[in-house]
Amino acid sequence: RAKASGRDRSELFDEEMRAEATRLLDLEADLRRAILADDFEPWFQPIVDLATGQVVGHEALLRWNHELRGPLPPGEFIGVGEDSGLIEQVDWLVYRRAFEWMARHREGYVSINVSPRHFRSDNFAERLLQMLADAGAEPARLRIEITEVALLDDAPRALRMLKTLRSRGIFALLDDFGTGFSALSYLHRFPIHALKIDQSFVAGLGDDLHPESLALVRAILALAGTLGIDSVGEGVETEAQAAILRQLGCTMGQGFLFGRPMPAPAAERRGAA
Ligand code: C2E
Ligand code: MG
Ligand code: MG
Ligand code: MG
Repeated sequence: RAKASGRDRSELFDEEMRAEATRLLDLEADLRRAILADDFEPWFQPIVDLATGQVVGHEALLRWNHELRGPLPPGEFIGVGEDSGLIEQVDWLVYRRAFEWMARHREGYVSINVSPRHFRSDNFAERLLQMLADAGAEPARLRIEITEVALLDDAPRALRMLKTLRSRGIFALLDDFGTGFSALSYLHRFPIHALKIDQSFVAGLGDDLHPESLALVRAILALAGTLGIDSVGEGVETEAQAAILRQLGCTMGQGFLFGRPMPAPAAERRGAA
């Protein structure tokens, strides 16, 4: 804050605001160029059956092959992508590549992330099915990951969408479960295939500093049990976390312990092994 000397706070604040606004505009322009150049690709991270250790599927995770800044994770640009609406275009580019990989890679399912706004858009299901057909990929091997927000905003519409997708064999998972505004009372009305336990809770498992994590994970797994659906522990980094999840009845796991997100060729080799 030494820079502030001689100037008042509001001036500095204005300057910072302007700099941030400029940065966001630049990023948005960059994103538009990258969409035209098709500079995005999915990386794949394995999801394992916790009981057997077998890889049952992969999550497709968006990366931006930025010419200067290298493969960028979504955290670097998703905010701008969502505010500008550009994320939908990015998503379609990544989904198409994920479906092409799915058609070549014959094992297990592939799950894709769908932002709430995108999930609510018209013709989402039709376009997804068309793209799967064009890629020669089976709908029944696709899963979509949505967050609780996608269900709550317009519940009747979300329900229709989920039913349409499920009638074609596409299951939905609730991502980052436990971090949103969980309306437990009507979760059972939606055809949800599995809950993904947010990595913030998994990170605290077996950790004396975060004893509440165990209680939360236990509660989420009890809920999944009551609903009769599967569960995926996210962000599993240690054997101890995997063991606790397994012991609590969590059916699947995902995290650096089992494999990091990787570009397609490496993931294909792993799948073939
Ligand atoms: P998510 O769907 O919850 O994905 C899990 C995130 O956790 C990924 O971050 C993954 O790389 C990271 N992760 C996996 N295992 C571990 C672990 O053991 N430890 C730690 N610390 N992290 C782990 P990533 O790839 O940066 O993606 C962040 C978020 O961006 C995703 O969270 C998802 O919400 C969103 N996203 C990813 N791909 C897409 C996409 O194609 N479209 C849209 N709209 N959003 C996407
Ligand atoms: Mg996800
Ligand atoms: Mg998640
Ligand atoms: Mg997340």
